[in-house]
Amino acid sequence: MGCVIAVDLGATNSRAAVLDQNGRMAKKVEAKTPAGGADPAILTGFLSGLITRVCGGTLPDDSTGIGLSAAGPVDIRQGILLNPPNMPFRDVSLTGPLSEEFGIPVRMVNDCHAGILGEAYYGAAKGRRDAVYITLSTGIGAGVLANGRILLGRDGNAAEVGHFHVDDTYDLTCGCGHSGHWEGYASGKYLPWFFAQWCHYHGRPHWGPDTAEDIFHSAREGDDDVLRFLGDLSRINARAVSDVIVAYDPELIIFDGSVMRSNADLLLGPIIDAVDRYLRLPEMVMTGLAGDAPLLGASVIARGYDTGYGDFESMIG
Ligand SMILES: [Zn+2]
Repeated sequence: MGCVIAVDLGATNSRAAVLDQNGRMAKKVEAKTPAGGADPAILTGFLSGLITRVCGGTLPDDSTGIGLSAAGPVDIRQGILLNPPNMPFRDVSLTGPLSEEFGIPVRMVNDCHAGILGEAYYGAAKGRRDAVYITLSTGIGAGVLANGRILLGRDGNAAEVGHFHVDDTYDLTCGCGHSGHWEGYASGKYLPWFFAQWCHYHGRPHWGPDTAEDIFHSAREGDDDVLRFLGDLSRINARAVSDVIVAYDPELIIFDGSVMRSNADLLLGPIIDAVDRYLRLPEMVMTGLAGDAPLLGASVIARGYDTGYGDFESMIG
């Protein structure tokens, strides 16, 4: 067994790593994801540059594969990224061009599916059969391990829990165009907008926090309105996590994502307190992988994790 290259293509930042034959991360690099452009080649060129950089110029002789974790809907059979973040076009073919350039198989899954694989092989879900990985970051999504296997769905987008319906009171519109979706309230991108609408609804002055972090900072300072707002946010988070529990009956839920990792002290306890007690309550924990779960999961995919998608296997390399 040789080494593999793992790439995590995020909406804001992207990372690449080389993992040696023992699965240890030998080298890691990071770069800002391109913020726009009219040509799909910008994205493939960016990823190719990141891979070349982490390898120090050329791929190690014993490289056996490249694994790609990508934010946003994907078509894993075709290796296509659908609706790439920050970009004005709809589809970008990634695995084909990269495989052709580097001469080794390239396989792709969405970032949340990579996250649960990372947790299953390196983190809290090791040895578990039924676990869910939930990320609250720029967006919200989940990866599911069911009966010890990753749940992929038709194109590789199963468990898009950010688009679970969670609220009718504020009726906010999600980035997908529909209303009442979890991501349209609790994601890093939409939280400041939710707070503005919350102030408007309750007739409270809105002092215009620009980021989710500004809101959590004010909560720590004891701002009464923000604390009441967080109560409502927790109700919505718990609604969504309750739906996750009844959908997948997991023994373990692992939370990750920049919003959750920076504010677990304010967010995790209220979710656990308020989720429905209908099915047996799963264990709910924060990730111990410090943001590397998707990257580690991409390395698992690079090593040829058997997805059970026969034609997915034949599309690669
Ligand atoms: Zn939505």
